[in-house]
Amino acid sequence: MTDIRREHQLNQGVTYFGGPVIYWMSRDMRVRDNWALIKALHLAESRQCAVCIVFCLIPDYPSASHEHFRFMTEGLCDVDHELEDLKIPFFMLQGDPVSELNKFIKQIGAGAVVTDFSPLKHSRKMKSELALSINIPVIEVDAHNIVPCRMASHKEEFAARTIRPKINGLLPQFLVEFPELRRQKFEWKGHVAHIDWDRIINSFGKPNEFYPAGIKNADDQLRNFLTGGLNGYSAKRNDPNLDNQSNLSPYLHFGNISAQRVALNAKEAFWSPDDINAFLEELIVRRELAENYCFYNENYDSVAGAHDWAKKTIEEHRDDTREYIYGFDEFERARTHDELWNAAQKEMLITGKMHGYMRMYWAKKILEWTPDVETAFDTALALNDKYSLDGRDPNGYTGVAWSICGVHDRAWQNRPVFGKIRYMNYNGCRSKFSVDRYIQKIKDLK
Ligand code: FAD
Repeated sequence: MTDIRREHQLNQGVTYFGGPVIYWMSRDMRVRDNWALIKALHLAESRQCAVCIVFCLIPDYPSASHEHFRFMTEGLCDVDHELEDLKIPFFMLQGDPVSELNKFIKQIGAGAVVTDFSPLKHSRKMKSELALSINIPVIEVDAHNIVPCRMASHKEEFAARTIRPKINGLLPQFLVEFPELRRQKFEWKGHVAHIDWDRIINSFGKPNEFYPAGIKNADDQLRNFLTGGLNGYSAKRNDPNLDNQSNLSPYLHFGNISAQRVALNAKEAFWSPDDINAFLEELIVRRELAENYCFYNENYDSVAGAHDWAKKTIEEHRDDTREYIYGFDEFERARTHDELWNAAQKEMLITGKMHGYMRMYWAKKILEWTPDVETAFDTALALNDKYSLDGRDPNGYTGVAWSICGVHDRAWQNRPVFGKIRYMNYNGCRSKFSVDRYIQKIKDLK
């Protein structure tokens, strides 16, 4: 069964009368536990037609690096192989998705396009341009969120405490098991070109040895976490020397695993309710709050998105003297006076992911050591997006906005440079974990 509350038709007044259905896979790069694929199959079967999946590789996708493309294409290769059993063909296009999809739709005589949901501007623009350019339905299905973003709230939420009751109220309806996927009933009649995955994947350099890509590795990562790190998550997740985070964010970002599957399995884990609930709070409430922020606030990628109290305090402290000022290159090459900050930056450069607690410290120090809040925001975002495997994600935009301009946070005690934005310092980190051990751990990575 599909749930109409996950769906949003992007071009009104056009109906599906039959013909092949394209699932334009964009954000949710997986076969199992994917509401968009379930919808595409359901729609096609209703007219005795077949489904194909199309992915369009965009070589100049904003802030995408070779590391991102490598991770992504390894996952897509797994998708293609999983589809063989279901008899669903996979097509890889390359270039501008609107014109490439237009050509493909004509070529196969498609009757509808189903696509997945993203709150980010670039993705929304492409999808609405496609919808305007064709006269078959383009149906967006929120396959990424447990409670669909449009359903969770109709407006920008102020903080976790305002969205939490809305999400929790809807969870019993949405945190449900997925229907089983079966081989598609109606055969695909057209030609399917072989994809030379080795050539494509290897053109993007070496694999990431810390977070190995692909669907099987995403599943393994979840299994290891549920039998290991989740035990103690509530008390230990903020210690970067321990292994109590799930490390699922790269896989969730590329949609290799569904947050709904992670939540369903986590709920059944053996560990204490405190650990399970603390994890579900991050995975569901915080993650979906970030989706809400990016969906309803078009300035999510700049200081302009901040709340009024934050904008006011930022203005009041604009001319405060900064003790240290660094340029982009010094940040990028981890050349600040602070060994802890440098270690966090190196963790991201070397592994493709920074520990969650360090991300907060890292971004707040960028605010402290840049000439103004706009430079701080742009610097943190650019570095996060370039070097984090999970970058270019609503969580990243919101994380930077939280750290640097108090989004979803409250006003704290007034102090130089930060104003009322929450402050973090080196001694605070020292009181929480062994800073020396963390610095050494990062040195040992190379
Ligand atoms: P776990 O603690 O195991 O959490 C499980 C999942 O819950 C995460 O994968 C994520 O989907 C979600 N989650 C956890 N913490 C948060 C949070 N604070 N906000 C929203 N969702 C959360 N997350 C990204 O996915 N991509 C980013 O680019 C990113 N950039 C960030 C930048 C800054 C400055 C800050 C402060 C936070 C950023 N985060 C980002 C949020 C968070 O730090 C990461 O999601 C988390 O560290 C990922 O590691 P994990 O999967 O092991 O987390």
